[in-house]
Amino acid sequence: MGNCGLDNFIKEEKLQSIFNQVFDRQTIEAVHELANKGYIDYLEHIISTGKEAHVYKAVDKAGNPRAVKIYKIETSNFKNMRAYIEGDLRFKNVSSDRRSVVYQWTRKEYKNLEKFTEANVRVPIPFAFHKNVLVMEFIGNEQAASTLKDSPFQNIQKLYKIVVGELAKMVYKAKLVHADLSEYNMLNHNGELVIIDCGQAVLLSHPNAKLFFERDIRNMCNYFRKMGLQKTPEEMKDDIKALKSSV
Ligand code: ADP
Ligand code: MN
Repeated sequence: MGNCGLDNFIKEEKLQSIFNQVFDRQTIEAVHELANKGYIDYLEHIISTGKEAHVYKAVDKAGNPRAVKIYKIETSNFKNMRAYIEGDLRFKNVSSDRRSVVYQWTRKEYKNLEKFTEANVRVPIPFAFHKNVLVMEFIGNEQAASTLKDSPFQNIQKLYKIVVGELAKMVYKAKLVHADLSEYNMLNHNGELVIIDCGQAVLLSHPNAKLFFERDIRNMCNYFRKMGLQKTPEEMKDDIKALKSSV
């Protein structure tokens, strides 16, 4: 199923019309660029329509399922984005115009997914990005996997151990703080935990890294408490530290 015309990467009329309403010419061209390189053959359906991004299930030229996250230029909170890009040594020149900030953000999410993957943190494997479009591993079966919010783990004690293990790899191996950790950014893929939404993750050297880490820990403790497992932030941090030499 090749791409011959300009808009052929969307087969369904309804999807095409949503896409055209939300994305500009340059975004459509960015998808085409990725299609020309084989990373996308076509977009199959919408998984999520967030304020800042849409996520699509797609298929690549070899027939593999893919997730394609496309950041919206107009409605992204680019001032907030700047705060996470500034202070990150990987981005020496933080752009000031909206479009470039969103492009930098997309690149940041790609780089973060790459670092996490290298450190064996279970995140979607990143495959490519161009401008505001990111192609990554699709997490799910036919449909995308649900978040922890919608499909909690049966064994909460086991989930706690997994989360502590992932956090230890994030901090000690990837040397990144996720900075938006919650039950909304974790997927339950047939009982496997997959952490998503990594655009805001910052290096440990970021001036706010500690603050973001503390917040992540608090959010997770709140979640575990709701699920019936009492852990204080101190306990959770100790459990993470205990893994320092074994990650
Ligand atoms: P945001 O919260 O900024 O809108 P997310 O990265 O959290 O963006 O993605 C939004 C939703 O899209 C997720 O809750 C999940 O349902 C789905 N999603 C994101 N990435 C993937 C992926 N790699 N595979 C399957 N579904 C995904
Ligand atoms: Mn999210």
